[in-house]
Amino acid sequence: MAEFSSKVLIIGSGPAGYTAGIYAARAGLKPVLVSGNQPGGQLTITSEIENFPGFPEPINGSELMQRMREQAANVGVEIVDDIITEVDFSKRPFVCNSENCNIFSGETLIIATGAAARWLGLESEKKFLGFGVSGCATCDGFFYRNRDVAVVGGGSTAVDEALYLTNFARSVTLIHRRDELRADKTLQERLFANKKIKVEWNSVVDEVMGTENPRGVTGKKKKNVKTDSLSELKVDGVFIAIGHHPNTELFKGLLELDAEGYIKTAADSCKTNIPGIFAAGDVQMPKFRQAIVAAGTGCIAALEAEKYLSEL
Ligand SMILES: Cc1cc2nc3c(=O)[nH]c(=O)nc-3n(C[C@H](O)[C@H](O)[C@H](O)COP(=O)(O)OP(=O)(O)OC[C@H]3O[C@@H](n4cnc5c(N)ncnc54)[C@H](O)[C@@H]3O)c2cc1C
Repeated sequence: MAEFSSKVLIIGSGPAGYTAGIYAARAGLKPVLVSGNQPGGQLTITSEIENFPGFPEPINGSELMQRMREQAANVGVEIVDDIITEVDFSKRPFVCNSENCNIFSGETLIIATGAAARWLGLESEKKFLGFGVSGCATCDGFFYRNRDVAVVGGGSTAVDEALYLTNFARSVTLIHRRDELRADKTLQERLFANKKIKVEWNSVVDEVMGTENPRGVTGKKKKNVKTDSLSELKVDGVFIAIGHHPNTELFKGLLELDAEGYIKTAADSCKTNIPGIFAAGDVQMPKFRQAIVAAGTGCIAALEAEKYLSEL
């Protein structure tokens, strides 16, 4: 057990957390950053990143995050590999307890705990994740120029992703387990009007099929939930768009969250409803879900924390 006290305590080691750390360290605030159960965050489960500026060649997600970690450590962020299990916002400094029984206190707190994509839970989905199975059309759509892809889901995100993918793909099949969509009506109209998109109703993915060497998706088995009949669909990519859940269980009842559990922040700011507590990245910005946006809000949170401390 150890005690860590700092002017700026950061929870999370994705692009938002590391960027907040880099800015806070360079402002001389000696931040402490707790990396959590997924050091490096969501990008560590993907292979090639082509849209993070500064890398002319695609960079592996884990390598990008390792570089951010090294940069943060080099400028003076104290990184602790631990998981916060309990928070107390009723007194100052704010106190967080951890899985390894450490006690962290911070005069300010930056929450960058991210969000997790929901997956189908199939072994084959896990096997091809980053090799034909994706959770993000904006991130990976570009790789499917003139290819056939499928999108799984029936909400606005799924329809939005299907429409976006028609910019690249030859065909897009939307697989939905019900016989109607939950998506916003305007999006549905655009979907049904788009000749590249076909909808497979009452269907679920039973298995993602692919090759071992090179590893890649060749199709999937789908099951009609009404008839139980199995059929195969040849596709080069499968986009899972069945939602995300923000990592905010720790903060329920303590911070203001929106209806889906994301941390509410003031307009054009990372300030939460508690002065001195800031939120950055996917945990407060579900609309864009991109690493560069998370990094940008990490910077904003650190600048706001610095201003808050200087005005105390
Ligand atoms: C498969 C996939 C591919 C993607 N590809 C791209 C891409 O090509 N380009 C792009 O820009 N974006 C991509 N994204 C989106 C991008 O990964 C996210 O937008 C970005 O990672 C969000 O950063 P973040 O810092 O907000 O949170 P995250 O990356 O989600 O990190 C959250 C951090 O919080 C920590 N944490 C959580 N709970 C606790 C706790 N209790 N205690 C301590 N720490 C905790 C975790 O360990 C983790 O380090 C992809 C996402 C996925 C899932």
